[in-house]
Amino acid sequence: MITTLYVAATATSFSSGTAKMHTVLILLSSLATCWSVPRRCSPEEAAMGRCRTPAENRPQCMEMVLGYCQDVPYSHTTFPNIVGHRSRQDLEMGAEYLLLSVIHGLLNGECSPDIRLLGCSVLAPRCQDNKLMKPCRSSCEMVKKSCIHAFEAIQMAWPYFLDCDRFFVGEEEGCYDPLSELREKQEVAFANISDSGFFTIIQFTYHTNSQMFSILKKTASKCSDISQTYSIGRSVEGKDLLAIEFSNNPGQHDLLEPEIKLIGNMHGNEVLGRQLLIYLAQYLCSEYLLGNERIQTIINTTRIHILPSMNPDGYEIAASEVADRNDPENINQEGHEYNGWTSGRANAQNLDLNRNFPDLTSIFYNRRRFRHFRSHHIPVPESYWLNKVVAPETYAVMKWIRSYPFVISASLHGGELVISYPFDFSRHPQEERMYSPTPDEQIFRQLARTYADAHATMSNNDTDRCGASFANKGGITNGAQWYSFAGGMSDFNYLHSNCYEITVELGCDKFPSEEELYPEWLRNKEALLSFMEFVHRGIKGIVKDEHGNGIKGATISVRGMRHDITTAVDGDYWRLLNPGVHIVTAAASGYSKVSKRIHLPRTVQVGRVDFVLKKVPREPSLDYFNIPELDNYDRFDPFNQFEQSSPRVQGENGEERTEKPWWWAYFSQLGVSAPTWLLRNY
Ligand SMILES: [Zn+2]
Repeated sequence: MITTLYVAATATSFSSGTAKMHTVLILLSSLATCWSVPRRCSPEEAAMGRCRTPAENRPQCMEMVLGYCQDVPYSHTTFPNIVGHRSRQDLEMGAEYLLLSVIHGLLNGECSPDIRLLGCSVLAPRCQDNKLMKPCRSSCEMVKKSCIHAFEAIQMAWPYFLDCDRFFVGEEEGCYDPLSELREKQEVAFANISDSGFFTIIQFTYHTNSQMFSILKKTASKCSDISQTYSIGRSVEGKDLLAIEFSNNPGQHDLLEPEIKLIGNMHGNEVLGRQLLIYLAQYLCSEYLLGNERIQTIINTTRIHILPSMNPDGYEIAASEVADRNDPENINQEGHEYNGWTSGRANAQNLDLNRNFPDLTSIFYNRRRFRHFRSHHIPVPESYWLNKVVAPETYAVMKWIRSYPFVISASLHGGELVISYPFDFSRHPQEERMYSPTPDEQIFRQLARTYADAHATMSNNDTDRCGASFANKGGITNGAQWYSFAGGMSDFNYLHSNCYEITVELGCDKFPSEEELYPEWLRNKEALLSFMEFVHRGIKGIVKDEHGNGIKGATISVRGMRHDITTAVDGDYWRLLNPGVHIVTAAASGYSKVSKRIHLPRTVQVGRVDFVLKKVPREPSLDYFNIPELDNYDRFDPFNQFEQSSPRVQGENGEERTEKPWWWAYFSQLGVSAPTWLLRNY
């Protein structure tokens, strides 16, 4: 049995989308110059037969001569059509037909030719025995279900003339299926591939931002029982930072179910991780549907959040530079040295996002000698908000980290082949390469090894290391020992939340050629899956009060490890631990502490350890939770600088509306009947 069809595409498909787009634009501007329309009758008038002059009282079937509707499964149409165009000329001048002629380019070929054929069935409906036939509502609903995400991805409304209830009819009214021929052809093609209804074609090519949004939304709608997309915020240029989530209960946290995140493309020019995460999302969805037990177990026991691009603005700059490099006209020009370019690394404000997080590591180093020092949930210092330009991408990720009980995370980069783990910032300010372990050194090493060992080549000592020396290290390194930097995302995760994040350097080439994408997926697939499974290690449980209510924010400490983790909203927690004997203590403000001695055998993946804490009268002098700083943890963004600064314009009805989408300019040139129905929220 063939499971999933994966297509390794050729390099030519990268540029073909751009070429089509040019065609689209040329066509639009030539049509715009001859714009003049006679009064159309309304769809309602058309439906009641009021559009015809007495001479044309009965519909007359005429040959189908519309250029963009030549492949419909019938040969005759009639006017007025279902939406009220009186003649072929009237139709060809309308924005509806124009949309059909360009939709392939606008949606990057997605849902093509389905949308066009559906549109033709309304604009040039079938005519038989001098009678206008209407297309089937069921065909419309099927296309809408599988294609609406593609419109959402470019912020376009579902076209009014494809309203399934308004212009389509049921079987009992004698409808016809405008996609019948297309479907027959597809069935013949698919019968050769698989007898199963579920399969995904993963295209191992690069994806533009709108293609990425579209694929993620399409994947979530295909797997709507286990997946959904959501935006964690916007980039400087207003692009969504779109995440896709997989879980047996998408949209909610399940008690005791650990959550993990995977982030790609933080540096806009490091693009392999972005593509791998897009493929991973498609793979998880299709393998789950196909009944792959391993994938089903992962998704049923873990909530997985994937953000393929943290820096979509930077990606655009990097991708355009690569396109220039590949353009034959530029071949002999200077300035496109293969490994020498860094355009697109930073965000649109020229900020390196991996230097833009609060530097909590310095705070940790300054305090670690104090007796009651805390190395967990360190608040963001006020100076960060006052002195630093905080990128909206950084801000969105910080809020994200604070909003979900993430246990582990991987940030995918490029330029080296190694896993690096915290701390990234050196414990000695003058030492730029100094081994700087966290209190969780052993856990981090295991987490890093899990990825490196499952990767096809990362842990091999003879593997090309792109310049740096990681020989005899098995493909993993402490971050600061490699090179030190402050304000990184991984250190922030560890010191501000319960999340343990590693940095995955996927290879020497930051922007590999398209032919490399499929082999790279094969090299990393097992590593990504093993990494996700790693979260089911150590202990987990619930901290409750005497009445059985979960206690939020209780600390879980392990003797000998100077880093606590805290419970989530319902009192559940996850503590990564190596096998062995441990003393574990649960504590919460206003409750007595409880300690347990536990033995975690090698054979057990994850142990369950619950705690019940008794309420005690507060003794303020002894209550070390009463450090004023703890309250500051909740004071995030005290100056509210971000909520105010997002660019919005006011809609006509006073509602908030974002700027018009990029494709609007081409339609709006048309003047009199600019298709405002294509704008969402209008
Ligand atoms: Zn990077």
